[in-house]
Amino acid sequence: MRAVGLSALMVLASCAPNPAFYQGFAIGTSISLTLPDGPQPRLWEAIQEQLRWLDDTMTIWDRQVPSELMQLNAMAGDRRGYEPSAELREVIRLGLEVGRASEGALDITIGPVVKAWGVASDAPRVPDNQELRAALDRVGLQQVQMEGNRVVLLTPGMILDLGAVAKGWMGQRIVEFLRREGVNRAILDLGGNIALLGEKADGSPWRVGIQDPFRARGTYFGILSTGETHVVTSGVYERYFDVGGVRYHHIFDPLSGYPVENELASVTVVHRDGGLADALSTAVFVLGMEKGARLGQRYGAGLILVTRDRRVWVSPEVRDRFQLTAADFEVLENPLP
Ligand code: AMP
Ligand code: MG
Repeated sequence: MRAVGLSALMVLASCAPNPAFYQGFAIGTSISLTLPDGPQPRLWEAIQEQLRWLDDTMTIWDRQVPSELMQLNAMAGDRRGYEPSAELREVIRLGLEVGRASEGALDITIGPVVKAWGVASDAPRVPDNQELRAALDRVGLQQVQMEGNRVVLLTPGMILDLGAVAKGWMGQRIVEFLRREGVNRAILDLGGNIALLGEKADGSPWRVGIQDPFRARGTYFGILSTGETHVVTSGVYERYFDVGGVRYHHIFDPLSGYPVENELASVTVVHRDGGLADALSTAVFVLGMEKGARLGQRYGAGLILVTRDRRVWVSPEVRDRFQLTAADFEVLENPLP
């Protein structure tokens, strides 16, 4: 057994004779591709190109040429709105749908809050109350309208942020691309979003190590055995900064504007739809254990939830495929009172 990959989830692959492993950095995170059947440098190039396209389309972080999403955001407050490309529209629709289903726990209008904290920037900081209140005035799903193919942001200064959804959606897209290219099996890791294509050559399931949220990257607390699917984790450890002994992480409560503080340390979602898996990972994290479990159930998602006091709950969808390996975790039988 060998651990491949360096990010939040590790895929434990006992690969075929001539596996190829590519690694790089894109969309602000480390990425990798494992092709058990051998090298395909052209496909790795194509994937990197597609990730550059994703940045050109959906980032909100400073760059010389504004992304398409930044152009849309620049129209905030203008009732004429903006007509996004079909791809950008698809991701926005997905965000809005899971946003409503989660009663606003997932809120893609969170941009002003994310910017105020600067978590993904070089200079993260704790904003003062007044600044947060001003940011929150521009947050809320009711301030977005889809009018036919146009997106209207009703309030000036609104910022859509697709950081909670886009990577998973892209993972799905890349898997479909690889399939069209005739690839039978692959493991794609976009910064902890794992997309699995096909199955291992011997027909046995993939084994995905799930990152221990309390230990160094690359340390897993359990293993998921699975066929083709998407495995997406949201956790406090993914992006954070410390000020005065307090740790601030990157998933925000859209009501308070502060990093979510509940019983959860990480949420792993297993779903055949990569975009949905990503949207749900963030939504379940914000909702907390009990409401989050219900949301996952509604979408037929597999969930692996880790609490801050090292308890693990695994939903029925994946229970017989998950094996706890860390000795200091306790299994919770029931999160739904
Ligand atoms: P993920 O790692 O998929 O959970 O996504 C986290 C990213 O989504 C953050 O870095 C923010 O850009 C954005 N985000 C943070 N909080 C929320 C929220 N409540 N709803 C939607 N997006 C959020
Ligand atoms: Mg997510």
